Amino acid sequence: MTDRVLVLGGTGEARALAAALVADGVDVLSSLAGRVADPRLPQGEVRVGGFGGADGLAAWLAGHRPRAVVDATHPFAARITANAAAAAARTGTPLLRLQRPGWTPGSGDRWTYVDSLPAAAEAVRDAGSVLLTTGRQGVGAFAGLTGRVVVRCVDPPDEPLPAGAVLLLARGPFTVADELALMRAHGVDVVVTKDSGGAMTEAKLAAARQLGLPVVLVRRPPVPGGVEVVATVAEALGWTNRLRRTGAGTETGSSWTR
Ligand code: NAP
Repeated sequence: MTDRVLVLGGTGEARALAAALVADGVDVLSSLAGRVADPRLPQGEVRVGGFGGADGLAAWLAGHRPRAVVDATHPFAARITANAAAAAARTGTPLLRLQRPGWTPGSGDRWTYVDSLPAAAEAVRDAGSVLLTTGRQGVGAFAGLTGRVVVRCVDPPDEPLPAGAVLLLARGPFTVADELALMRAHGVDVVVTKDSGGAMTEAKLAAARQLGLPVVLVRRPPVPGGVEVVATVAEALGWTNRLRRTGAGTETGSSWTR
């Protein structure tokens, strides 16, 4: 057993957690999938690339023996979250899921929740000009739309785009003024987003509210049963500190700091 914490990352929360653990003197290894061409790198050590499914991750955990795993991946990164749950259970590695809360509608919001990207595509089939902000993965679900579709994502999608697509490559955070300007410039009639939650990308919701536009939100996949979930970096730090104090999950009960 090492004193290392593996943070499954790719989110702002994961970077904040890695920074806080580094500041506490904890040995952190952040793992990134390698999807984004030029990722924002967390503090501490970083590895890039998949583990090879739940079996691969279990073998990695058995070989590297981290003290704990914090799954701080995106709320829609369901595969790695399922793999982490299975691999942690199999190897007896303490696992925490850090997942920011979803967005909550306020007064003036015209939100509709759907269960999947294809259901979102169906919901906006005849809705006019669509602003699509669901990310590059799964964008092919919207390929059959025949109207104007503004597709905004960080890197170019590999999947087919709708015939009338306008591709905007941009990485948040965006301001409400940015989003209002974008929606006005493209005559947007409806916004489509995943219920990702968080401040980084919520300006589009405020802009849609100001313009009286409807928003279609894709619901999150569920967290695997039996996994402890927290919503904030502070709670995740509390969890790691508790493990550190009690030595839970360790063979020696030794301190974590180097
Ligand atoms: P996913 O569908 O849940 O995972 C697909 C595969 O990618 C996993 O089976 C795993 O490959 C690999 N993988 C995913 N996250 C990893 C990580 N942190 N470290 C090492 N391997 C990882 O994941 P996704 O939705 O493609 O997301 C990929 C990354 O982008 C994640 O880090 C996530 O936090 C970030 N992200 C996702 C979204 C989104 O909307 N889905 C948005 C923003 C950021 P193996 O099976 O080979 O281990």
